[in-house]
Amino acid sequence: MPNRLVNKVAIVTGGGSGIGLESALLFADEGAKVVVADLNLDAANRAVALIAQKTPNAQAIAVKTDVGNEAQVKALVDTAVKTYGRLDIMFNNAGIMHPEDDNAITTEERVWDLTMQVNVKGVWFGCKYAVQAMRANPTPVGGSIINTASFVGLMGAATPQIAYTASKGAVLAMTRELAMIHAREGIRCNSICPGPLKTPLLMNFLDTAEKRDRRLVHLPMGRFGEAIEIAQAACFLASNESSYITGTDFKVDGGLTSCYVTPL
Ligand code: NAD
Repeated sequence: MPNRLVNKVAIVTGGGSGIGLESALLFADEGAKVVVADLNLDAANRAVALIAQKTPNAQAIAVKTDVGNEAQVKALVDTAVKTYGRLDIMFNNAGIMHPEDDNAITTEERVWDLTMQVNVKGVWFGCKYAVQAMRANPTPVGGSIINTASFVGLMGAATPQIAYTASKGAVLAMTRELAMIHAREGIRCNSICPGPLKTPLLMNFLDTAEKRDRRLVHLPMGRFGEAIEIAQAACFLASNESSYITGTDFKVDGGLTSCYVTPL
């Protein structure tokens, strides 16, 4: 089913790596004009080059953005609208997992604050400016906002990352409320809850076989997910195929959050 995003303009934050990179590639392949936003400009530029390689007639630009900085997020949305005329899809996907994020007692306040700045405020800023751009769209008015949360926003883990977990719970709660507030404006807001994935974010953190095996035993499908498997879900939520879906915690987790005992 190609061309699912034709005539749409999309911003993908954290578009230089992992879920964001696969989503930028897929969105462009499905016909969207894509603005790849990342703190790492080299990575965003590489993503744009990969888009050109995979989909030669696609339109894409890279914009250096720290999603935790409101002025930069406003400038990002302004650039998208100035360059491509409108904004239809805002994928607030950038997030961090701080290496010193631990339990409630050992986690330092600066780790908590940085995690919240990027993972929660970053999503809020993205929504704030995306909503305003989508309201101003000539027909069709409206759009799709997709926020990356995590399965840890839905279930507890005995391998603590207290700030990260709290930040993803906040993304879920914020997204549901946004969905209600903007439902009558044609702006749909959904969260994606990925399970653990084979991306640099998690694999840098799980840097020993022991740490990986501690998680793998809990995964019903017996493997980590792939970034493209989340990108495909994001593409669905971005497209008109999901026109009656808003306010959902869309789980793409290989069955993890439905699991009591894993299969042998
Ligand atoms: P990744 O580390 O592969 O990519 C994240 C990208 O975000 C990087 O290119 C990085 O430069 C960029 N980034 C970091 N801070 C930024 C900032 N302040 N502003 C703009 N860009 C910034 O990570 P990923 O695994 O693709 O994760 C993407 C999202 O998915 C995150 O929100 C993460 O919390 C979430 N998630 C990941 C997993 C997993 O297992 N990998 C599971 C659940 C949820």
